[in-house]
Amino acid sequence: MPPVIYADKCTGCGICYKECPLDVFRWEGPGRAPTVAYPDECWHCGACMVDCPIPGAIDIRLPLPLMILHVESPTARPSVESPEAIQVRAGGGM
Ligand code: SF4
Ligand code: SF4
Repeated sequence: MPPVIYADKCTGCGICYKECPLDVFRWEGPGRAPTVAYPDECWHCGACMVDCPIPGAIDIRLPLPLMILHVESPTARPSVESPEAIQVRAGGGM
């Protein structure tokens, strides 16, 4: 299933457009939220979501067979890391 860009959070930086290896997005320039122009081309690599600097601005929806195998990386999305994980990483313990 294609990625979703939430225009109310997206700043229009274009990073997802530049990072996507399959040119799924169309982008009209700085300040404009990209659009998903070729949704069927997405192979769910996650690069657009991982490199987006704004938490919650873009999401990818994995097809069900991939959801079963998916494991969330503890370091891939540091902006949504739990306070407990940050404390442990900083040596604060729990
Ligand atoms: S998940 Fe990968 S292939 Fe799909 S839109 Fe994002 S960067 Fe492109
Ligand atoms: S990387 Fe994130 S903030 Fe930048 S254009 Fe894409 S969705 Fe918007």
